[in-house]
Parts: sequence; C-alpha cells; structure tokens
Amino acid sequence: MAGVKKTTTKKSLFKAVFQNSTVAIAILDSKDRIVEVNPAACKLFGAGKKKLMGKSIEKFLKSSLDWQNPQERVETQLKEYQGELKTVEYSQVKDVSSQHNLLVLRDLTDFQRQTAAELDLYYQRVELFAEVTLKIRQSLQLHEILQTAVTEVQRILQADRVLIYQVFDNGTGMPIKEAVLPDFKPIIGIEFPEEVFPADYRQLYTKGRVRAITDVRAKNADVAECLIEFMDQWQIKSKLVVPILQNVQIDQGIKGDRLWGLLIAHQCQAIRDWTEFEQELMQQLADQIGIALLQSKLLANLEGLVAERTAKLRQEINVRTKAEVALRHSEEQLRLIANGLPVLIAYVDCHQHYRFNNQAYQTWLALDPEEICDRHLAEVHGDDEYQQISPYVAKALEGETVTYERDLALQDGCVHSLSVTYIPHIQQQNMIQGFFALTSDISDRKAIERMKDEFISVVSHELRTPLTSIHSSLKILATGKLGSLSSQGERMLKIADEQTERLVHLVNNVLDLQRIQSGKITMNKQACKARDLMVETVQAMKTFAQEQGIRLSFKPNEFVVWADRDYIIQTLTNLVSNAIKFSPSNSTVILSAAIDSQNNSDSKHQSISYITFAVQDRGQGIPQDRLETIFERFQQVDSSDSRKKGGTGLGLAICRQIVEGHGGQIWAESCFEQGSTFYFTLPEHKASNQQSINFS
Ligand code: ADP
Repeated sequence: MAGVKKTTTKKSLFKAVFQNSTVAIAILDSKDRIVEVNPAACKLFGAGKKKLMGKSIEKFLKSSLDWQNPQERVETQLKEYQGELKTVEYSQVKDVSSQHNLLVLRDLTDFQRQTAAELDLYYQRVELFAEVTLKIRQSLQLHEILQTAVTEVQRILQADRVLIYQVFDNGTGMPIKEAVLPDFKPIIGIEFPEEVFPADYRQLYTKGRVRAITDVRAKNADVAECLIEFMDQWQIKSKLVVPILQNVQIDQGIKGDRLWGLLIAHQCQAIRDWTEFEQELMQQLADQIGIALLQSKLLANLEGLVAERTAKLRQEINVRTKAEVALRHSEEQLRLIANGLPVLIAYVDCHQHYRFNNQAYQTWLALDPEEICDRHLAEVHGDDEYQQISPYVAKALEGETVTYERDLALQDGCVHSLSVTYIPHIQQQNMIQGFFALTSDISDRKAIERMKDEFISVVSHELRTPLTSIHSSLKILATGKLGSLSSQGERMLKIADEQTERLVHLVNNVLDLQRIQSGKITMNKQACKARDLMVETVQAMKTFAQEQGIRLSFKPNEFVVWADRDYIIQTLTNLVSNAIKFSPSNSTVILSAAIDSQNNSDSKHQSISYITFAVQDRGQGIPQDRLETIFERFQQVDSSDSRKKGGTGLGLAICRQIVEGHGGQIWAESCFEQGSTFYFTLPEHKASNQQSINFS
C-alpha cells in the first residue's frame, strides 16, 4: 500500500510540475502527433488543448524533427500563428514511454527582442558619442570646442542647462560656457564663491568623482545648505556633475591629473533621475574635453614656436634680400666695368664652356652673348682656332697661369695682335673650377716695337760700316807706319781705340739680339760634348782671366747636349767674362755641368733630360731683387758698371734668347758679396733622341 501511495504522490507531483511549468512541454506519438500538452505549450501555440490534441507538431514548427538524431537544443521558428512569428528553442527527449517522445519548447521571442533593443540602444549611444566627439574634435579653437560640448550635451540630454565651469587656482571658479533653455536664467560669467565649492569637493573631483543628484533638496543628496541656497537662485532641482581633468606635468618627469573644471547639467523644471547612460556620456565627453585642452596647449606651444620661427625667417629673408640687392648692385657695377674695359674678359669652366663674357666679345668678334654663353670653346671659336688655343687651355686647367700672343682678324676686317692670359680659378683643396681669360689688343705696341727694332737695326747697320773703318784707321795709326805720335797723342789714340772697340761691341750685340729676337737666324743644333764647349770657352777667356789675375777651372764630365755650338760658346763666354769682371783678383771661376733632376721628372717630357751648366764666381754678388731684371736689355746692377767694367747691359739678354731658343732656361743665384752662380739648361742628347750623332 505504501508503494502505491508513494507512486500516486510522485505522479501528482510530476503533474503539478507539468501543469505549472513556464516551459512548454508536448508529448508526441511515434508519428509526431500531439498526445498531451501543458498550459505553457497551449500559450505558446496560441490554442486550447482540445484544438491541439492529435495535430502533427510539424503544423507548428518550421523545421522538422529528426528522431534518429535527437537534438538537445535547436533554435527554430513557429509557423505563423495568429499573425505572430515566434522564435523558439526546443529539446528532444526520445522514448519517454513506449511509442512516446517528449518535446520541450521555450519561447525566445521576448528575449531576442530585448537583446536587439539593447543592442540598438548601445549602437545609438556609440553613434551619438562618435558624432559629438567628431564635432568637438573638428575645431582646434578651444572656446569653440567647449561651446560645442555644452550645446551638444544639452541637445542629447534634453537638460535645461548645461555649463562648463572653470576652476581657478585660488579655489573659486566661473561658468565659462553655457547652453540654457530660454525659460531659465543664464549663469555664465557668475563667479562662484569658495564656500559653494569647498576644497574637499575639489579633491574628490580631482580623483574623478561623478555626482548625479536627482533631488538637490533630498536628505540623501547631502548637499550643503549654502549650496542649496545658491542653487535656488538658478532654479536647479537636479544636477549631474563630472570633472574635466587635465593631464599635466606635476613634478620633474611625473605627470598627473589637475582639476581644470566641471561639466555640469541642470534640470530646473522638475527633478530628474540621471540614467547610467547619461552619466557615462557626460563622463566620456568630459574626457574628450580634457584631451582637447591638452591638444590646444600643444597647439598654443606650436603656434608660439611657429610665430617665433616666422619672425626669425622674416629677419633672415630681410637680411638675405638686402644682401641680394647689394650683390645685384655690385654685379651690375662689375658688369659695367667689365663691359667698359677695352679687353675681352671671360670665365670658362673646367668643361671648357663659357660662363661669362663681357661686351667686347660682341664688338670685337661680332658674337652675340647667346652665341657664347654656356657653349664650348670649340663651338664658339671653330675647330682650327680651337686647335691652336687648346694647349694653353690645357695648361690653365692644370693650374698654370699662361700668357701667349696670337694674331686674329677682328670684326673690322684687320688682323690684330692679341695678348691672351689664362688665370686658373683654383678653389679649396686645389680643385680647378675653370679659368679667367683676358685678351688685350697689343697691335699698337707691336707696331711700335717693330718700328723700334727696325730703327735700331738700321742705325746699328749704318753705324757698323763707318765704325769698322774708324777702328781699322786707328789700328793703322797705332802701328806708327804713318808717322810717330807724341806720348800724349799715343794715349789719346789708345783711348779712341778702346772706345771704338766698345762701340763696335755694342753695335754687334744690338744686332745679335735683334736678329735672334726676330727669329731671323736658325740655331744649327747638333750633338756637342759639354766638356768641349767648356774647354773652348776657357781657351777663349784665358788671356782675359790672366790679365785680371783670375784662375779658370772646370769639372770634367761626359754629358752630351743637343745645341748650336757657336751660340752656346757665346753664352758661356759671356757668363765667364762677367764672372771674371766682377771677381776680385786671385779668385777662381768654376765651370761645371750636371744632370738636371727637376726637369727629368717633367711628366710631359719624360723622354727629355736636361743638363744644367753653371758658372760660379767669388765676386761682389747681385742683390736678390735684381736677379731677374739683369736678364732684360740694358739692365745693370750699378749704372757705373758700363764705365768701370766696360759692359753694355745686353750680354745676359742675348744669353737668355739663345738658351730659350734651345728650349732651356737661364737664371742666377747669388749671395751678396760672396759670389754669384749663373745656371742654364740644355736638352741632353741621348743616342735614341736623334738619329745621327755628329760630334764637332
Ligand atoms: P754687361 O755687358 O753690362 O756685363 P750683362 O747683360 O752681361 O751686361 O750683365 C748685366 C749686369 O749684370 C751687369 O752689368 C752686372 O751689373 C750684372 N752681372 C752680370 N754678371 C755678374 C756677375 N757674375 N757678378 C756680379 N754682377 C754681374
């Protein structure tokens, strides 16, 4: 009996659960027909139990049941029933008794709707927040940002008043921006006394406190009496306050939050319960204002820097403009000078392109500036002319200052003599950038020189014939064959003979120099032993040396030079003669020859070696500043030399012409009162240099 009772109790218990369950339960036969449903199932299907009994469940469900593979949770939809579409979740329990299966269903429609609504709300809020943030961020001007913030918050919250209150360092503060409905009194610009915003409030806000007060007068609002009074003036019933914090440098390297102000919303018409969303929105917008404050500070800094730099730049531009004006002015002046000069002035770069040329190019050569500027020398002058000038151009571009003369037909149709000088333009690190070219017309000078030479030549020739006969007549007189002379007469005759000899010597020298200079004579060069040249010189000068009490010596050598024997003996004789003349008696004049090591390393003439001849004396010496000039015509260190020593001042000029005619150089070195050494170089003759060797 007890077992029966127990079973009955259990049954009634299950029945109670079945009847009262909020979950819909349907018992189906093997063909999915409803054999039993609970009230929750009737509610779900929207029909009474009687109507449902015997109906196939497939009439209600959109998906069909698979009992081979019963599912624990399937989400599907009910077929439209009473115009409503419901989403359900069901579980299949197979074979709860023989031939019966159980289907447990739960209505998900409300749950889904609620979830969708929450999501919608969430998206709306995100969009709203994004929209307001964007509006705030669109401006870089702080006052605009703050105004946008209050206007937007007021619009979204539908608050009666929204304001931004700025906290000052002394504890007071003032609303600086406000959006208020027309029905309510504006509060902007009113300074709040310190007691309505005490220090402990400030501290709490600095820590991020948000205050949402539904009813400012309510006890639990815990608002100080003085503050309630203050708020009454502005009809404030509810308020929501969030701090605006600014991240600033507090200590060296440490950053922290500073309470910059408050974002406040007031409700004045009636009390208002601030929702979590509203609080959150205010909070987030206050954060955005904090960021904007930081950015505007940076911007202000940046603007300061920009202003400072702009001022500096302006100053720099001023200085530069002035410098440019000055430069242009000086350039104009230079151009004016360059154009006014009666010479060709040009600058040619290292690639042989003209970079500058003065006006004279147009008047002399009939070349327009555009026909010259930036063009290559060959293009401007033509190939033939370029061939002639290019060796000098090459030298200038190697860093050597070169001067040469050339004849050229100018625009007037006449051939002019021109002197051309190239001066290399050398910059730091010895880099050659180009050269300056100066060309002057020396036709007049040349004509005068020619006339002078001709005059000298004519005069010398005209003098030589009578001089020769005077000289011979004097010699005959001196023999005494035409009668004897008194001793005074003999002395006078001797003086006349000496002076005539000097005159003959001078005239011969003048004619020699003139002939060599004019290129009328050709050097008859051949292989000559240096030793032979020196021996012959010594032989010729022996008597003169003995008369002066001078010893002549020479160092033997085996060098062979390529030279005109007679002219070189003339050169050596002149140098030895000077050495004897200017040496004290009882001293030695030494002749020597050596291979010239410097000229040997000449990269351009590697195959040519030079022999340096030297004539050394122990005489009075030559001052340093005269070492160059003595090689010019009629130059003597002491003007009395010609009288005392009997010279003409032409000997060294002739020597230079002869040596240069051999491709050599001549110079002197001297120590005053210790002696002088005269050097000259001649090309060495090597068997390979010339085909035939013809020793004389
Ligand atoms: P000159 O016929 O007058 O010697 P040069 O042309 O040969 O003409 O020499 C020019 C001048 O150079 C001389 O007048 C003299 O002043 C100086 N000179 C030449 N050789 C010597 C020397 N060896 N020692 C000192 N002075 C010299």
